[in-house]
Amino acid sequence: MLDRIGECGTAAAVRLEGYSPRQGLAHGSLDVIVYACGEHTATARVEWLEGFTPYTTAATGTAQCGDRFTFGPKGERR
Ligand SMILES: [Zn+2]
Repeated sequence: MLDRIGECGTAAAVRLEGYSPRQGLAHGSLDVIVYACGEHTATARVEWLEGFTPYTTAATGTAQCGDRFTFGPKGERR
């Protein structure tokens, strides 16, 4: 599902993927993606990913700071 976290909304600079361990792999399961501007990257890593292991890449498209995609428990949208 898509929602919004924070109240920034400026153009995102980074895309932070949040993973949880699965089958012995630290990045086994992609569970959440959040986008952040440069100012909120640290906040996003610490707070918005809610403890998932972060992986940072460049933001693409028209994503805005605070956009968050949460993946379902059965792994849809992989
Ligand atoms: Zn921001």
